[in-house]
Amino acid sequence: MGNLDERALGLVTAATRVEVFTGAGMSADSGIPTYRDARTGVWENVDPQAMASIDAWAKDPEPIWAWYLWRRTLAARADPHAGHRALSDWEAAHVTTQNIDDLHERAGSGDVTHLHGSLFEFRCSICARPWRGEVPHLEEPVERLTPPSCPLCGNLVRPGVVWFGEPLPAGEWQAAERAMREADLVVVVGTSGVVQPAASLPLIAHELGTPIIEVSPQATELTRFAEVFCEGTAAEVLPALVDAAR
Ligand SMILES: [Zn+2]
Repeated sequence: MGNLDERALGLVTAATRVEVFTGAGMSADSGIPTYRDARTGVWENVDPQAMASIDAWAKDPEPIWAWYLWRRTLAARADPHAGHRALSDWEAAHVTTQNIDDLHERAGSGDVTHLHGSLFEFRCSICARPWRGEVPHLEEPVERLTPPSCPLCGNLVRPGVVWFGEPLPAGEWQAAERAMREADLVVVVGTSGVVQPAASLPLIAHELGTPIIEVSPQATELTRFAEVFCEGTAAEVLPALVDAAR
């Protein structure tokens, strides 16, 4: 460690307001399988898109409820890594994530903006009332489970995540946009830069001339907008970056 790019060093030392934007690569270092990799056992032959749309839910909610509870178990079993912990120590940093696990929070980051919702939140599929009841803890994956019913309207409770074709939560989106505009440095971590509209967020910063540092094991769609590209995983690069900021 400590072998940080000179320009990255200069940028983090000068920054007073940092917007950190994280994607699947951030969680991958904690062993959380990506969408595709989670398809083992009972879901081996399932199209991930079929598990993440309102149409699929309307047709047959039970496999989808079971799938999200299993992903919740996998997230709960994972531990935050050195990169998560480093970010929580960086006082100038605010985190916006596309991830639906709670690893940033468990590492100690407060006020995390979740663009794609959370595996630990639920709401009514019709009246949208938040639901805070107990869900069964799965020790292993099961094929189907009956979702609970909303106490207000009797309709099914659904995972609090954003599915394909659904708009992002308006409040979270606005918070993320504002943070991008107000930052004097943006750090993009482990995101492929292809999932829209989230991928357009760093471009807001780019258009304002705000420098971007990208942390990723390989170049992405966003690399050409980055001032500095730090090749490596989140767990490898972030501790050195945050150290330099002190
Ligand atoms: Zn309801």
